[in-house]
Amino acid sequence: MNNDIEISVRSPSAYTLANEALRLMQEHGVWPTPLNYELWLYVAGDPESPLAQEIYRLVKAGEQITEDVSESLASKFIARLKLNDEVRDAGLKLTRELTSITEIISEAQKTQKTYSDTLEGAKRSMSAVDAAALQGLVQSLTDATNQVLNHHVEFESRLIDSSREVNRLRKHLDQVRMEAMTDALTNLANRKSFDEALDAHCDSDDDSAPLTLAVLDIDHFKRFNDTWGHQTGDQVLRYVASVLARIGRAPRLAARYGGEEFGLLFPGETAAVVERILNEARQEIASRVLKRRSTNEDLGTVTVSAGIAQREYGEDAFDLLDRADKALYQSKNAGRNKVTVATGSAIPDSSAA
Ligand code: GH3
Ligand code: MG
Ligand code: MG
Repeated sequence: MNNDIEISVRSPSAYTLANEALRLMQEHGVWPTPLNYELWLYVAGDPESPLAQEIYRLVKAGEQITEDVSESLASKFIARLKLNDEVRDAGLKLTRELTSITEIISEAQKTQKTYSDTLEGAKRSMSAVDAAALQGLVQSLTDATNQVLNHHVEFESRLIDSSREVNRLRKHLDQVRMEAMTDALTNLANRKSFDEALDAHCDSDDDSAPLTLAVLDIDHFKRFNDTWGHQTGDQVLRYVASVLARIGRAPRLAARYGGEEFGLLFPGETAAVVERILNEARQEIASRVLKRRSTNEDLGTVTVSAGIAQREYGEDAFDLLDRADKALYQSKNAGRNKVTVATGSAIPDSSAA
């Protein structure tokens, strides 16, 4: 459901949907805060959805859709916000476990201190004692030692429990972080991770190795969707993504940059190498006759266009992306199903006279 609405807000019907959301909010006396707007956008886009049904149930019961109610609805029904809640919960649990570990350690230190005090006292009483007193002294030392040993066994088992819990939480957080960096439809990296990786490369001081960036866009995809429907369109997105995942293995990176557009990073590789790789991928995609999975119906072929730019000395992420985008635009203008390598940026070559 969420995916359809993501598409609708970027389609010609977007403003109709937005107006409907605002109208509903006004009708139900809900403030147009960003969170409420997002919620009611989903309600307007899919009135049969569980979220819409829950909101209408609350409205019917005369409940106000307050900030608190909106927040709890959002965290329950909107996947992206659900993720935020999971991170917060795991963070709280981790903090609790770490506090408990600190307590265990400080208790262990106290026991150790008592034991040292007992030893110190015994040392002082050692001088000039008779046999019976000595026996009593040895007994008290044995008792103190046993007590410390018992405490240690207990501390150890509590520490093992705590570190098990910390490990479990760390794995869960890793999983949540992976999900937050992954595009749910194609399983490729999402725009956020692509932008972070690109920034990291461009911000690094090491300018000696080449870095090449490519943007790739499915041709006439709107027409494909209009003819065969969004669900079939989604299958095509997954297919194109699978080809890109294969050529984009680490240290390269393939990401879904948005809609039907993909970004690829090729650290250490030149534009000439990337041009060859992308032309092979382009030909592979264009030569595949697509079939609708459910009916085996023939859907014809899709083609892709790409733009490539190799980073110039000192060039930032924005300019590099811009040059790759312009090269993509040239591929589109030249009739699509093409790969174009960008010419240099306006930055003067430092080695030129
Ligand atoms: P061009 O060759 O110039 O790129 O034409 P185009 O139709 O591909 O480009 P345009 O930007 O006009 O339309 C992009 C279309 O991509 C609009 C929308 O139908 C489709 N699209 C975007 N995201 C998704 C998605 O997640 N799933 C599906 N099925 N379609 C999507
Ligand atoms: Mg397109
Ligand atoms: Mg596009």
